Amino acid sequence: MKKLFTHENRLIVFNLKNLLEEQGINCHIENEFSSSGVGVLAPFETWPEIWVEEYQFDKAEQIVDETLNNQSAGGDWVCSGCGESNGSNFNLCWKCNSPSSAH
Ligand SMILES: [Zn+2]
Repeated sequence: MKKLFTHENRLIVFNLKNLLEEQGINCHIENEFSSSGVGVLAPFETWPEIWVEEYQFDKAEQIVDETLNNQSAGGDWVCSGCGESNGSNFNLCWKCNSPSSAH
């Protein structure tokens, strides 16, 4: 498998994982339960990581690119829970994990 994406905000990582799986990409999350190791590892090493099969990597990377680009290019929705704006591809608020009710 190949590492596709990592981010300090695990909600973004898990939102992306859900999106990828919806589109038929097999995902594996590394460092999912990393908080217990924070005292030993440098912070960036405890970020959750999305790993995908190599034959699906290009497609997965494209989905991630499109998702992250869409997030800054409009079509956003504003979370009713915390007021954060989220990309249109996200079904859950990346900040507080509330479901999107506005669209
Ligand atoms: Zn929110």
